Amino acid sequence: MQILKKFTNTKSTKIGLIVALGLSGIALSYHFYDKNNRCCRSAIQTPSLPQNPIENQNEFGQNRFLTQAGAIQRWRQIKEGSISYKVDLLLKRGESYSGLVALDFEVIDNSKDLYVDFKGSKVVSLYVNGNKINDLDWNGLFIRVPKEFLNTSQKNRVNIQFDQNYAKDGCGLHGFIDKDGKQYLYSQCESYFTNRFFPCMDQPDLKAKLRFTAVCPKEWVVISNENADQKEQFNVAQATNTITAYHPQEVVQSQLQNFENSDSYNFWVFGETMTLPTYLFALVAGEYWSIKFQGEEGDTPQTIYCRESLKEHMMGLKDFIFEVTKKSMKFYENFFGVKYQFNKYDSVFVNEYNWGAMENPGCVTFNDVYVFKEKKPATSYTQFANTIAHEMAHHWFGDFVTMKWWNDLWLNESYADFISHFCLQNIQIESIKLSSIPVMFNQRKGWGYREDQMLTTHPIAGEVINTEVAENIFDGITYSKGASVMKQLLCIMGAAKFGEACGNYFRKFGWKNAVLQDLIDHLQEKFDNPEFTLSYWKQQWIETAGMNEIEPQWDQTDRTHQAKLTIFQRPALSQFPALRIHKIKIGLFHDNGLDSIDAVLQATEENVITYDGSKGYRAVLLNFEDQSFVKVLLDQESTKYFSQNLHAVQDILTRTLIYRALFDSVRDGKICSEEYVDFLLAQLPRETSDEILNTQLMFLQGAIGSMTPRKFKKILGKRVFSFLIAELVKISGDAQLENRLILLRNNLVAFAYDNSCVDELVDWFQGQNNNQLQQIECTKDNKWAIVKLVYGSKKYDEQPELREQLLQKMLELDNSDAATRAQLKCQALKANEQERAALWQRFVDPENKESVKLIAESMAGFNNERRYLSLEPYQEKFFEVIVQIFQTRSNDFSKTFFDYLFPITDDLASLCNKIEKLRTTVPENLITLKMQVDKSLDSIKRQVKQFECFCNQAKLATQQVLENDV
Ligand SMILES: [Zn+2]
Repeated sequence: MQILKKFTNTKSTKIGLIVALGLSGIALSYHFYDKNNRCCRSAIQTPSLPQNPIENQNEFGQNRFLTQAGAIQRWRQIKEGSISYKVDLLLKRGESYSGLVALDFEVIDNSKDLYVDFKGSKVVSLYVNGNKINDLDWNGLFIRVPKEFLNTSQKNRVNIQFDQNYAKDGCGLHGFIDKDGKQYLYSQCESYFTNRFFPCMDQPDLKAKLRFTAVCPKEWVVISNENADQKEQFNVAQATNTITAYHPQEVVQSQLQNFENSDSYNFWVFGETMTLPTYLFALVAGEYWSIKFQGEEGDTPQTIYCRESLKEHMMGLKDFIFEVTKKSMKFYENFFGVKYQFNKYDSVFVNEYNWGAMENPGCVTFNDVYVFKEKKPATSYTQFANTIAHEMAHHWFGDFVTMKWWNDLWLNESYADFISHFCLQNIQIESIKLSSIPVMFNQRKGWGYREDQMLTTHPIAGEVINTEVAENIFDGITYSKGASVMKQLLCIMGAAKFGEACGNYFRKFGWKNAVLQDLIDHLQEKFDNPEFTLSYWKQQWIETAGMNEIEPQWDQTDRTHQAKLTIFQRPALSQFPALRIHKIKIGLFHDNGLDSIDAVLQATEENVITYDGSKGYRAVLLNFEDQSFVKVLLDQESTKYFSQNLHAVQDILTRTLIYRALFDSVRDGKICSEEYVDFLLAQLPRETSDEILNTQLMFLQGAIGSMTPRKFKKILGKRVFSFLIAELVKISGDAQLENRLILLRNNLVAFAYDNSCVDELVDWFQGQNNNQLQQIECTKDNKWAIVKLVYGSKKYDEQPELREQLLQKMLELDNSDAATRAQLKCQALKANEQERAALWQRFVDPENKESVKLIAESMAGFNNERRYLSLEPYQEKFFEVIVQIFQTRSNDFSKTFFDYLFPITDDLASLCNKIEKLRTTVPENLITLKMQVDKSLDSIKRQVKQFECFCNQAKLATQQVLENDV
């Protein structure tokens, strides 16, 4: 699964900034995991569960999540490889659907009841081996299958008839109705959501084959992991014939009562899937538009699906998608020496998606924000290509060979995240020019660096005691730090050996489950580097939390051949004190270029390196070429040198590393945001790399948005805004610089804190002649962003007609779902006190069935820094309700509530107190909330340091700045 790597302005400022600073992802989460035992059945021990809140209960006696202990218990009951599902769905238009499940399996232990997971609306009936179970025992998550009906001598069959609503939070079978009235469904089952789609034994090591049938409106197309064998007009007799082969007669009759007017339905029968974990079963249905790949003979068939309303935009992207898909598939086939294992590769673009994409074999779902409606900067296409290559990699790592339990999710994601970059670096994409991959990889690393410097950090591999923890482990450590560590391993081993070892691993465990040690064993066979051992690597990098920082100390005036460079290594956080061996390169800069030397730093506080000082080096950069995962500090002399000579450093990646080191100093509260802004504004006009410009603009958004006290944001924002305008004016009309122009233009709104900037953007929107930007196209996306800005700006409270007029203009231009979302945000932004009270009621109403993505828009408008003066009354309320929200609503809704409505205040000390207090009242079993609280506390404390630094260092801090409420 890929987290959407998108800097979004649809979320609250806080979230946007977290994304900017982490340079990835919108998930705010952490995890604790455990290295599991080998997959050999006899070797499995029930893990000790010291942190398990339901330790003393039956593992299936609670209804929030599945515990690892419960999963192990169930795995022991069932014969491996014996499970298969037949799932027959009746998918109607509207809000709900129903279905039948026939679950076949062999039991090796019937001394205990068996449980089937289902978090749905209703279990209509349960049959076990033909016996109807009258006293149905279902606690809202687990359906009990009584042991007395199970037998060990022959195959068992459980039949369940169920009803369910289409999901509104993107977990399970999600339903969305587009503006044109067309309905679209898609399933999202990872991590623990297959049980919200249909009843099943929802854990990754109970792999099974599955065959879907679906009855659905004639206008709909249905897509699944396998091709449809059959599609025809629904015929009661024929469908009955098909499904009574495996369901009791009375169940089939009962299900058929569910429908009327059968002429308007089609009946689809799909081929049986390969042996898959439940989280990879996929079904998509609705009036999807499609286009097939016209490949060459021997190519795997590919089809792209998207909403009808997006087809025009898709036509401009399809060749790119087909090309990256085909070339990445071929690359992995060659690199691993193992063929792609599935019959087709569909790319389905779906709406209201929580993720970037999901690797359902043969039926990959992508967030349809990737269907760009206008030209985007090259970095956006590169991220998209990376997402395609990432999901493709999972077809080997994850889909073909599957983790046993969620504690190895990191391996799945780290591997895919690393190898997708490696793949893109080694294939040539012709349809669209991509950005520099090493630079993109480093940007992604920032996400891991950020999370690894929080007190909530954790080892890459740790304990996952239950599926609620699993839901929360899709974070920067799992993806980005893990990927960096994988890259390191490939550097240590060499690409060819690494690829061969992986190929052997896939061949051995294909269609089965594996654990980390299985991969390690295969890597070991090809591993012969004298400087590292694999067990050391695993223990230091995978099993030990925290990161290191390294700082050079040297004497610039030492011109001898035996000059000494001392490298200090420290833990980034004292709570995680481990030091590590780092294989790095050191860049030594002189006025005419640079030299690099290799070094292996020992896991000690001081390492001394000897170098030839006769060239008169002026600066030092550690971890040159970015091989290790380590925070690099600059010494004073080098900082001074780079701040004056950065433009002379030729290599983009090297400049990227230097920029990052400077930004880290701002994050750490060592350099104030004003100094950083001014440095960048002097530097960026000479910066030739658009990738770097893109990152630095995000860093600037972060530096101003979250590292600058509120009352100074206007001034700093205006400095950047003026810089952007000046740059735009300078390059407008130069077709060669179109990518840069798009980048600069799309950043304008983010820095428009000052009223004069907002006015200027309104003029641009309206095409005023005297506007500096008049030569530059104001696109639909730009215009929507400006409309929201105008609704947020207090100054425009005085001009409601102008607001309305701009909004109406946009509604005439754009009748898509983007318009619905923008309208919701605008309404919330301009809401008066009474309307705000009504909005709050909507947010906390447990009966509210709105889509989470839509309600998030209202929340983003409601809790917006630009409306600072109206926020205060709801801060107390937030703390009053938050525990209850997590207790009564889905995790996805609750996290959205927390992220979007988290108090925005200047009084950080009081906020810290309130969070500390909340922390003590969060019940033990609300793991997700606990994680959210810890992480926000960490962020606020860091912010306090940044503000202190600002007050001590910024020139602005000494000036009188009027309080304002833009
Ligand atoms: Zn993934």
